[in-house]
Amino acid sequence: MYPSNDPKLRSFIPVDPDSHFPIQNLPFGVFRPKAGGPPRIGTAIGDLVLDLALLEKKRFFKNFFLLPDLLIFSRPNLSNFMALSRPVWIDIRSQISRLLSGADPTLRDDSRLRGQAFYKQSEVDMLLPVEVLDYTDFYSSKEHATNVGAMFRGRENALMPNWLHLPVAYHGRTSSIVVSGTEIRRPCGQTKKDDAPDPTFGPSRMLDFELEMGFFIAKENPLGWPVPVNEAQYHIFGMVLVNDWSARDIQRWEYQPLGPFLGKNFATSISPWVVTLEALDPFRTSGPVQDPSPLPYLQNSGDRSYDIQLEVWLQGQSMPEPHRISRTNYKYLYWDMFQQVAHHTINGCNLRLGDLIASGTISGADPSSYGSLLELAWQGTKPIQLPNGETRVALLDGDRLTLTGWCQGDGYRVGFGEVTGTIVPAG
Ligand code: MN
Repeated sequence: MYPSNDPKLRSFIPVDPDSHFPIQNLPFGVFRPKAGGPPRIGTAIGDLVLDLALLEKKRFFKNFFLLPDLLIFSRPNLSNFMALSRPVWIDIRSQISRLLSGADPTLRDDSRLRGQAFYKQSEVDMLLPVEVLDYTDFYSSKEHATNVGAMFRGRENALMPNWLHLPVAYHGRTSSIVVSGTEIRRPCGQTKKDDAPDPTFGPSRMLDFELEMGFFIAKENPLGWPVPVNEAQYHIFGMVLVNDWSARDIQRWEYQPLGPFLGKNFATSISPWVVTLEALDPFRTSGPVQDPSPLPYLQNSGDRSYDIQLEVWLQGQSMPEPHRISRTNYKYLYWDMFQQVAHHTINGCNLRLGDLIASGTISGADPSSYGSLLELAWQGTKPIQLPNGETRVALLDGDRLTLTGWCQGDGYRVGFGEVTGTIVPAG
């Protein structure tokens, strides 16, 4: 097997040290050339996109499971590829790595083929990578849950009694999951001020983002059969950045007793490149100590988390460039992905290929590492300062919000690119 994760590996395609897409990454995404043509699957390398559908048609990939006529990359989503299971993903990634390293000179030495197979990233539109069947959003950051609880219930009762014993979650909606770059229309709804007797209707005045990451399920479990925590990794294909846009004023009035609804389901944005667990493997790290110890079905040890640096950037309409408003890390999450899968299925609930499972807002301990405006501006009481003199307690029309994240290697980064969205006025 080709050593795809070797830190010393280099591609014949030049890649900057701070690019998110060196040969050690090789994420999968769906793109369409701006010049035309059907959607298809590619991988990112430096500033380029490699058309895997073309290489597939030319029979570059060889695998026991790949029948000659089975096209997995000439598709508008990753489902067929994800269905092939982890040994195949690893083998195909290794073959792509070999081609891009030049160890196999086929691509390196054929300028005509290279002209057909590579696109500049600026020459393509990225599409949703996966047809998302179900969407679950966890609430796995202890710092975030504590902050929100302190605002709504006071410091003494910040964490609900169940929080340290199980990863809390709610079922979201898939129809409004959109790819990075999609404009976000300000939602309207019912809101009620604390001192007002009745609710009023209108555009949300407390529009917020939530910095999250999510993962896609590929291997299904049958209804009635839980996934053990130590097998969960074989069910997960890869990860993306997630912005769980939230209308706090709508959420606050509607959420009891059944939880989030219209304050959340108007839009959820994801980054277009799915970074595989294989590419993330060198960046595994221990998570926070769990005290009290979870029940046995949730017990997980060793390097159960990932060291992924995360940043939030905001650019208002009159700002010449984006300004970083938060910096945090995925490794701060209390509950890990494998515990989330184990808990989600412990009652026999079946996860399906294409399910998106998100982490919940990722906040660190320091106020500069909070993952939402609700926390950064502490419920409107501490407006954040922007370099042009403006302040924010909520997102304004015209604001462009960008989440980005990467794992830092020695001289290279395995990154997620970004997920961005601009707020447009209510309809
Ligand atoms: Mn959320």
